[in-house]
Amino acid sequence: MSDALVRLKETLGTIHDLERIASLVAWDQETMMPPLGAEGRADQRATLVRLSHELLVSRELGRLLEELRSREDSLPYDSDEASLIRVVRRDREKALRVPAELRAELIRAGSLGLGAWLDARARQDFRILLPHLERQLELKRRYVECFDPAEDEYDVLLDDFEPGMTTAEAESVLEELKDELVPLVAAVPELDPAEDVARSGPFDLADQRRFSLGLLCELGFEPDGWRLDSAEHPFAMAASLRDVRITTHYHEHPLGGIFACMHEFGHGLYERQVSPSLARTPLATGASSALHESQSRRWENLVGRGRAFWTHAYPGLQETFPERLGAADLDTFYRSINRIQPSLIRVDADEITYNLHIVLRFELEREVLAGRLALADLADAFDARVHSYLGIEVPDVRFGVLQDMHWADFTFGYFPTYSLGNVISVQLWERARADLPELDQAFERGEFGDLREWLREHLHRHGRKFTPRETLERAAGSAIDPAPYIRYLKDKLETTFGVAVA
Ligand code: ZN
Repeated sequence: MSDALVRLKETLGTIHDLERIASLVAWDQETMMPPLGAEGRADQRATLVRLSHELLVSRELGRLLEELRSREDSLPYDSDEASLIRVVRRDREKALRVPAELRAELIRAGSLGLGAWLDARARQDFRILLPHLERQLELKRRYVECFDPAEDEYDVLLDDFEPGMTTAEAESVLEELKDELVPLVAAVPELDPAEDVARSGPFDLADQRRFSLGLLCELGFEPDGWRLDSAEHPFAMAASLRDVRITTHYHEHPLGGIFACMHEFGHGLYERQVSPSLARTPLATGASSALHESQSRRWENLVGRGRAFWTHAYPGLQETFPERLGAADLDTFYRSINRIQPSLIRVDADEITYNLHIVLRFELEREVLAGRLALADLADAFDARVHSYLGIEVPDVRFGVLQDMHWADFTFGYFPTYSLGNVISVQLWERARADLPELDQAFERGEFGDLREWLREHLHRHGRKFTPRETLERAAGSAIDPAPYIRYLKDKLETTFGVAVA
């Protein structure tokens, strides 16, 4: 290895360590930290981000990248080394545009926003969060101004999560989903509440936890390398390739915490199966948010709401909750976990209405950023949009504008990647099923290794070596395309509820 490459890797290793420590203290903030720690934690997170940013934009790193230009050209495009040099060059160019103080201030303000969000939720008062949002909007506008003027200001924010995708491209996918899915929701009959056994709790929280952990271990959660904890809002992170943390949130009803576990497992597995050759580099993570969501939504929905999976897992769930589920057969349970019905909470929404939750958030974010919607009016606008797309009333802000963590630290640009992830999940699913025709039989036996290996081989091991577009092309053989996803939803409606839709 050339001397310049050794030094590049040393610096990148330090940056990587600082970033993972920053993620670890963020994990601690969500799972363990007492609420009064919020201010001190905001400073700590800002410090870590500032230090890693300074290393990335340092002259020394720039010189090393210059020195390595000819070496990069001499290596195959998909080699680890050429990919590392290429991706770091791009990361650095982007980072150079943003002053370190602004970046640190964004992190600090976001961290304080998270504290205010918890408080606002507890007191059901959006006004507690509002000044934090106003401060963060001002900072985000300064952030957007650091970049060349884009066709749409939102492009800059979306690029942080979905590099290379424009707002117009995301909008065209989301619009197609909206046009196709709104009529489907209306076509599905309401499930008889007596048949809705997955919502017929109370389901004891400790029993849910025990069952979830057993299920996760079958999927591939390794007790020595993973942790499962509770958080207000479920999320996943990896402190290193062999230290994966996932969180969930159990409710007495419905059984959503189990599905959240499977969702976060999908994120965790993506991080866990990155090639060890990429460890301690900026390539040791997923390629983009949408690709990450394609992994979580697969385990949660394509596997976790599938019949083959529950053919295996349902007897154990019945044993865990004999009073609640003992008398309900698999078909009844299957229909209940696949119920299509407008509901208030995004993370508990069914596979179809979920996307309408995303569409409305995407629209509101764009309106706020463009100055067409004042933040002071965001809570009311949220409720009105829920009414218009889902036909239901929001009883209070915890079920409305304050339900998600994402706006507390102003991660505008993230929400659309959930629906993009849904779309991609089925593109990859079709590929995997074609390669592994016995997948259902394996799930019925409680075996998930073949799917994990397929994912490792076609997607996970590459980490962030390629752009999201290249990564998807390699794994799915095509660009993003909503058609397979819409087809999957229609098929499922027909086979589960006998609803035939053209
Ligand atoms: Zn997710």
